[in-house]
Amino acid sequence: MSFIAPRFAPPERILMGPGPSDVPKRVLSALAAPTLGHLDPEYLKIMDEVRDFLRQVFRTENELTMAVSGTGSAGMEACVVNLLEPGDEAGVCVNGVFGGRMKDVMERTGATVRAIEAPWGETIEPAAVADLFSKHPKIKVFGIVHAETSTGAHQPLEEISKIVHDAGALFLVDAVTSLGGVPLDVDALKIDAIYSGTQKCLSCPPGLAPVSFSNAAVERISARKTKVQSWYLDMSMLKSYWGQERVYHHTAPINMTYALRESLAMVLEEGLEARWARHQQNHLALRAGLEAMGLKYIPKNSLATLNAIHAPDGVDEAALRKRLLNEYGIEIGAGLGPFKGKAIRIGLMGASSSKRHVMLVLTALEEILGVSGGNAAAAKVFAA
Ligand SMILES: *Cc1c(COP(=O)(O)O)cnc(C)c1O
Repeated sequence: MSFIAPRFAPPERILMGPGPSDVPKRVLSALAAPTLGHLDPEYLKIMDEVRDFLRQVFRTENELTMAVSGTGSAGMEACVVNLLEPGDEAGVCVNGVFGGRMKDVMERTGATVRAIEAPWGETIEPAAVADLFSKHPKIKVFGIVHAETSTGAHQPLEEISKIVHDAGALFLVDAVTSLGGVPLDVDALKIDAIYSGTQKCLSCPPGLAPVSFSNAAVERISARKTKVQSWYLDMSMLKSYWGQERVYHHTAPINMTYALRESLAMVLEEGLEARWARHQQNHLALRAGLEAMGLKYIPKNSLATLNAIHAPDGVDEAALRKRLLNEYGIEIGAGLGPFKGKAIRIGLMGASSSKRHVMLVLTALEEILGVSGGNAAAAKVFAA
């Protein structure tokens, strides 16, 4: 007997967790287009288009802008390992899971890492950054998370960017949950290295990590004394494939590039400002609904793309999430780290940021928690 595996048919879900977000049919169909060779002239055209679209979405003129193979964490690693060498000094902000991960990746390069910590849910104060540089003036790269998905905190970047540049360091930003969802202007903020992921506010499946490096960052990479620890993520080699030389490095994830092209086209067709405004409006409506139901936000400065709330008193949050999934097909996120079992995280990212999603999750929560008033409060925000 030959083996015949039954086809896998994933259930239909409504993705409102910390990513992935719902993927539009247009993006999914792009994945099913015929695979081209990674040096086919028609594929090279798509790569160029992706670079052009990424520059517009990042709001940058940076020549070295592309998508590295792998998820958001590959983008983090690409930025960190290319900019740091053993013996360098780096600074990093830790106020949640992803700042902690950036610190770990930095330490693995052999750099000495100075961390600023803030309680989970809070943002980093510019004064703390200035203080760190006054104590450690040799810091060459300073990293921070713009949208801390583990706590829902929205980190302001402007003042910190100025302090970092005045100290002569490079400014590195994690924009995994902010790109395409909340205002971000790479050149205006003078960001030197930035990475994101496809499956959060860009509403593409996971698998590529958009990155961009300023000229100062590229100079630093060229001036390295040692080889980049990662062969796969060595930007000087990847640059030759994504640039005009087209030197083979590794086989690009061809169909994922089609999908990213489509999702970036959708961002640009909507317009960045309109997209940011949509995310903000849906967040305000959800927030009004949740607060009307007596639920409380964790961060003072909440992201529009991720809503982290304290689990309601006396409610088993795991059971709540299970009912949302089983009875409504809605996926939301659990709390991480110190918030494990104590928080729920509702994502409103990309295609999952819509009035339909907001009203549906509020309806489901009203029913499961036996509280009312959420939908009415959200409807008021939409009607205003
Ligand atoms: C999701 C996320 C990452 C990691 O991305 P993966 O795609 O899971 O590798 C990094 N930083 C932040 C802020 C994230 O939300």
